[in-house]
Amino acid sequence: MIGCTEAFNRLWEYLDGTVEADDRALVEEHLARCRTCCGELEFAKELRGMLARRSSEDLPADVVRRLNQTIEELGR
Ligand SMILES: [Zn+2]
Repeated sequence: MIGCTEAFNRLWEYLDGTVEADDRALVEEHLARCRTCCGELEFAKELRGMLARRSSEDLPADVVRRLNQTIEELGR
């Protein structure tokens, strides 16, 4: 099973629907077993909804900071 960081790194492609089938299975397996990542999935969905209403190049600094912080925490 892949770790939280690996799952989260694939989360964007997963949410975009552009993830490889093998990776999709890995992410889904992880999300099914990891409550922390289920929380991250909700977070990522929220973030994507917000990005959909903005230019992705105009990402708020606090969002970038929170995203980086989340990835860092998952890697511990
Ligand atoms: Zn996890």
